[in-house]
Amino acid sequence: MPDSKTRIIVSGAAGRMGQAILRLASDDPTFEIVGGLENAANCGNSQTIHSAGKKYPLASTMAELNPPPDSVLIEFTTPEATRIHLAEAVSANLKIIVGTTGLTETDQAAIREAAMKLPVLFAANMSAGVNVLLGVVSRLAAALPDYDIEIVEMHHRLKADAPSGTALALGESAAAGRGKKLSEIVRHGREGIVGQRPSGELGMHAVRGGDVAGDHTVIFAGQGERIEVIHRAQSRDTFAAGALRAARFLSAQKPGLYSMKDALGLA
Ligand code: NAD
Repeated sequence: MPDSKTRIIVSGAAGRMGQAILRLASDDPTFEIVGGLENAANCGNSQTIHSAGKKYPLASTMAELNPPPDSVLIEFTTPEATRIHLAEAVSANLKIIVGTTGLTETDQAAIREAAMKLPVLFAANMSAGVNVLLGVVSRLAAALPDYDIEIVEMHHRLKADAPSGTALALGESAAAGRGKKLSEIVRHGREGIVGQRPSGELGMHAVRGGDVAGDHTVIFAGQGERIEVIHRAQSRDTFAAGALRAARFLSAQKPGLYSMKDALGLA
């Protein structure tokens, strides 16, 4: 294998993101797919997973897969599975990309702790467009301090967490532009006699339906005008391509916590 190949393990291999990552990596000779991880129920009796006419080892535990050290684990699963795989990545001396959303504060502390021992990249959204947008939103929030900020996101009906990790990241960027933390100013939805909107509040609204891959709108509403910044993911391939770009970046890094800004050269 040429040194330039990046070895990857795809966790959540039968899921929507796992399938997109396997398909793109199968077609890219710069990646070597060590195998896929799936939960035991989804593995059934199968020890292989197919993508783009090729087959790869499939396992329900890291021990079964036995990846070479320095392989990059790409994790798009559930918070519960991510917790287990993070610990296993540390034991097996891997590198890990975490794309799973809905993580708790404790999970995020575990990610920071793991990053002291191995290279870790965490991003709630791996698309290049959204990562550029995070900076734009922060600058707009700072430049328009009196404008009301509302974030509206829409995703497919199967999404487990709300609001989306991307909406929270956009909210954190907007809040940072105002010198605040999102938790100090966020208001999730409104119902009933809610009264006048307090200035400085940041409204957050989650819409669910159909098969929407991910739409986010950040509204800056002033007197007599408003700006709406919209990002629409037309397919999951944008996130999958970002995850592979992140894997290639991470394979050359020392232990530490990295973001998509680092992988995209925006930091
Ligand atoms: P999905 O439900 O289609 O896939 C998740 C897969 O993980 C399933 O196949 C499931 O069986 C598997 N899984 C569950 N437990 C497991 C375990 N213990 N070991 C191995 N596999 C296990 O979901 P999805 O749409 O692919 O999204 C997965 C996660 O990624 C969600 O949290 C979602 O919000 C997030 N996501 C992040 C980005 C990003 O850019 N960061 C983009 C899209 C989705």
